[in-house]
Amino acid sequence: MLDGAADGGYAFPAVNVTSSQTLNAAMRGFADAGSDGIVQVTVGGARYLAGADGDGLTGARAFAALGRELAARYPVAIALHTDHCPPEHVDSFLRPLLDASEERVGRGEPPLFNSHMFDGSTLALAENLSVSEELLERCRELEIILEVECGVVGGEEDGIGGEGVESERLYTTPEDLLEVAATLGTGERGRYLLAATFGNVHGVYPAGHVKLRPEILADGQAALARAHPGARFEYVFHGSSGSSPEELRAAVSGGVVKVNLDSETQFAFTRGAAEHMVSQRDGVLASEPALGDKKAFDPRAWGAKAEAGMAARVAEACEQLGSAGRSIALS
Ligand SMILES: [Zn+2]
Repeated sequence: MLDGAADGGYAFPAVNVTSSQTLNAAMRGFADAGSDGIVQVTVGGARYLAGADGDGLTGARAFAALGRELAARYPVAIALHTDHCPPEHVDSFLRPLLDASEERVGRGEPPLFNSHMFDGSTLALAENLSVSEELLERCRELEIILEVECGVVGGEEDGIGGEGVESERLYTTPEDLLEVAATLGTGERGRYLLAATFGNVHGVYPAGHVKLRPEILADGQAALARAHPGARFEYVFHGSSGSSPEELRAAVSGGVVKVNLDSETQFAFTRGAAEHMVSQRDGVLASEPALGDKKAFDPRAWGAKAEAGMAARVAEACEQLGSAGRSIALS
């Protein structure tokens, strides 16, 4: 999938999910667009998946099992990923998931997840890269891709993120990017995706609030090509909500292969449910079930509308990012 995107100049939506409903909505959106895609959970999303006060590790394992089982029925390739894992959750979340993959690989099965993100952006770069390097070595042995972050994504997502960080930290420098390549290599020490920040902010804001500078990505590629001829970064775009088609195109042409989608798909899902509740108000808000409308209050009734809304938004993202109609499973 990643070779296809990097060679073909397109990117995959990576959709955050928190339930079987949002997981199914994302996969249906990919299938409708004829696109491969990535579904992912944050530590907080995994906790929620395990029940409202659930355990993240349990939720992530359940998500992987459910995702693998359901994805097999779709005609496109679906990759399973864990999103932002900050340093304080590496021992309780990331490493146990790698242990589980090691057990599976030892039995001749594929790893539990296709890729994991380690988010060391709260650490100094040298320390971030030292942890990343150790995790990358482990991932390489298991044929798992590691996503690392260089710079700071602004805003907040699931309690992660640099709300209130000074604005220059939102922009990665070519020097920092070369530092990443010096420590993690350019593929020979394991394949990694790089969340290099170029002004990205998690969440949704009015137009003009976020100043994206996608040229930072192209400058980083040029610096890398000078230092390591033939090498290229495979970038991840966090905080894409509200970006214009031009900004998305510029980011993809700079080498972005994965674009995270969360706020906009959350919105699409909830709107589908809300429209149902408003239009079926009497059926769902009756004082007792006998006075309501079972066809309206069955969770599958509003769930189907929520999922359809979210699936349409995911398919739209596939069109915008150029992955639509290019599934490796369809060729
Ligand atoms: Zn993010």
